[in-house]
Amino acid sequence: MTYNIDDKGYYGKFGGAFIPEMLHANVEELKQQYISIMNEPSFQADFQNLLKDYVGRPTPLYFAKRLSEKYKAKIYLKREDLCHTGAHKVNNTIGQILMAQRLGKTRIIAETGAGQHGVATATVCALMGMECIVYMGAVDIKRQAPNVMRMKMLGAEVRPAESGSKTLKDATNEAIRDWISNPKETHYIIGSVVGPHPYPDMVAKFQSVISEEIKWQLQEKENTPNPDYVFACVGGGSNAAGAFYHYLDEPNVKLISVEAAGMGINSGESAATSVLGTLGIIHGSKTLLMQTEDGQIIEPYSISAGLDYPGIGPMHAHLIDSKRAQTFSVTDQEALDAALDLSRIEGIIPALETAHALHALSLIDFEPNDIVVLNLSGRGDKDLQTYISNYDL
Ligand SMILES: *Cc1c(COP(=O)(O)O)cnc(C)c1O
Repeated sequence: MTYNIDDKGYYGKFGGAFIPEMLHANVEELKQQYISIMNEPSFQADFQNLLKDYVGRPTPLYFAKRLSEKYKAKIYLKREDLCHTGAHKVNNTIGQILMAQRLGKTRIIAETGAGQHGVATATVCALMGMECIVYMGAVDIKRQAPNVMRMKMLGAEVRPAESGSKTLKDATNEAIRDWISNPKETHYIIGSVVGPHPYPDMVAKFQSVISEEIKWQLQEKENTPNPDYVFACVGGGSNAAGAFYHYLDEPNVKLISVEAAGMGINSGESAATSVLGTLGIIHGSKTLLMQTEDGQIIEPYSISAGLDYPGIGPMHAHLIDSKRAQTFSVTDQEALDAALDLSRIEGIIPALETAHALHALSLIDFEPNDIVVLNLSGRGDKDLQTYISNYDL
């Protein structure tokens, strides 16, 4: 039994590649080549060097003393917030830009909701001197002005998606349309463990450096590579996939995934896919998604833009379905409170996405010697305006 991908591109009954005929050649090329390219020594050397000197890896595994006293367990924070650009997303974009180069591509497209993945993509395109086009919903362009400015500063072109609700799913449709029209020279950098096979597996493998480091860091600090728990927030699921990856088949390590309940699971304003999702196809992958009875995608809601996604990657759908992972749904208010708490207890201002995972620490009755690792997926600079306008400071 493995919880990782099978050789047909599925996690249990989730995954696969459900794509229009016109994308078949692109996706097939990637599928045929991604493993052998990733295994090339020169690829590994370039990837490892950039992770070290450009991203700043390994990120620290920090023993959070005061947080540990509060929750009565040994709590470690994996500091992905210290990565260049402020979150884990750059681990994936570095890997994918190197992949695009090996595939002979010269033009990069991406979709972005809040702009975090757009910034991480624009960053690596600048680094490699590649043309970069980022599709973004027109509504999101207005809501996320600082990230739009960052992308422009980095030399990317930000193209507004004007259809539908003018948000992430519309930007994704535009990106797919672009890829169909420009199949030869273009690589599509997807930002999470979502999309058609092989994207979920490729992104999970690039992010797996997170749990690879946790293993040796815990060995040094606790004399064991395995914690009792790993906590991570889940939007599409890439930071969680990275933090879980080397523990998937270690049944003694409990995996806790935390999604956004927005205003409350049953409020109609939520992104709690593990509870509200049903089997369907989104972005080329068979997975759990929030949809109406006739298959229309339900607009998700969360205060955190990174968790505001109507589906969940197929790995996580399988972890939920098989009960390998335990999932909690955390509201906007609970996340806001947890973010203030971490800021005041440890002097670390977390991203709103991560704050959802932090709240979940209060939902488990730990044993005093439990070793807990929480993946601190990003820093909160981008969320300061939201924080300040929601607290009475
Ligand atoms: C984008 C983002 C997330 C959510 O994406 P995943 O693919 O689920 O990891 C979580 N945290 C931060 C800081 C993000 O920027």
